[in-house]
Amino acid sequence: MNAFEYANAPTVEEAVKLLTPADPKTDPDHLPRALAGGQDLLTTLKAYITPAPRVVNLKTIQGLDKITAGPDGSLKIGALATLTAIEEHDAIRKNFPGLALAAAAIATPQIRNLGTIGGNLCQRPRCWYFRLETVKCLKKGGTECYASTGQNKYNAIIAGGPSYIVHPSDLAPMLIALNATLTIAGPGATRTLPVQDFFALPKVSVRRENVLKPGEIVTEIQVPASAMAKNSTYLKFKERESLDFAMSAVAAAVEFNPDKTVKAARLVLAGVAPIPWRVPEAEKALIGKKLDKDTLAAVAQIALADADPLEHNAYKVPLTQTLIRRALTTLNA
Ligand SMILES: Cc1cc2nc3c(=O)[nH]c(=O)nc-3n(C[C@H](O)[C@H](O)[C@H](O)COP(=O)(O)OP(=O)(O)OC[C@H]3O[C@@H](n4cnc5c(N)ncnc54)[C@H](O)[C@@H]3O)c2cc1C
Ligand code: SF4
Repeated sequence: MNAFEYANAPTVEEAVKLLTPADPKTDPDHLPRALAGGQDLLTTLKAYITPAPRVVNLKTIQGLDKITAGPDGSLKIGALATLTAIEEHDAIRKNFPGLALAAAAIATPQIRNLGTIGGNLCQRPRCWYFRLETVKCLKKGGTECYASTGQNKYNAIIAGGPSYIVHPSDLAPMLIALNATLTIAGPGATRTLPVQDFFALPKVSVRRENVLKPGEIVTEIQVPASAMAKNSTYLKFKERESLDFAMSAVAAAVEFNPDKTVKAARLVLAGVAPIPWRVPEAEKALIGKKLDKDTLAAVAQIALADADPLEHNAYKVPLTQTLIRRALTTLNA
């Protein structure tokens, strides 16, 4: 681990100041880093993946871990709320069951006790070439993506290139299915954007996974109340049942008409693309339909129409199609 300066931030404003580099052209891996639960950051520091000159502890900022349910049922989740707090929150379990399930699907109780929603959304990818200290692939400023022709069992089957990471967060796809927004504080103005627009494909930015600019941090996530949110789920397939990242997962939220046809739906895939992958054509194919066997089969087919697997990960196509059918079946009116 490189030597670094350590600072406890008393406020969001102070955190932003401490995180803003003197030189805006600083290499992305050498920027000061925010510390939340430390469950990912410490690993990347130890493996020299993010040799930050300064680490800024956000946990000293009062109130950033609050979860508030508004009078209309909507949620405001502070960036430092732990994954356990989300999993166990009464209003979330009742009105946003998919979010509670997604939080519960992450890692182990120990990691969920420390890991935060902000850190979960901003965690770095798990591609093992990226995680190997001795490998300098494209994402670390090198010239080659070793996964594209190497060990790519866990990599992307959709929208890959020039890097083929899959986005590791289980909360991100569910928050997109729930139409959530997030607030970012930075050296410029504070901004709020849909979680869907927070993530960036490698085509746009191969060194980074989201649109955060140097010095910016996520401060809050907002989730609107809706009939769809009440009827939401998260279904994840892991290689190791005890703890693992998603080989594939599906976040789904559906609202039904009185005649049991679908009124509205949002469907987001995880573990298959460099960003949480929303499938609008599959969502459209659900509208006005009952969730019978033929509809489920057609929707699963449409959702994976853009899949272009690498040498070792074609299994993700039928796996994801099965998860889509099963997830939607659990939501059936
Ligand atoms: C063994 C293991 C298994 C795991 N399995 C899963 C899994 O199955 N599913 C899953 O979703 N996750 C999984 N995780 C990831 C874990 O949930 C995340 O690492 C954790 O949520 C990160 O949160 P943290 O608060 O510890 O963040 P940290 O480790 O403190 O930070 C992670 C990154 O986010 C940045 N950051 C933190 N907070 C903010 C903020 N508010 N604004 C801007 N940047 C910020 C940091 O600078 C750092 O780059 C696993 C982790 C481990 C170690
Ligand atoms: S998929 Fe991305 S992180 Fe993995 S080797 Fe290729 S460039 Fe590196």
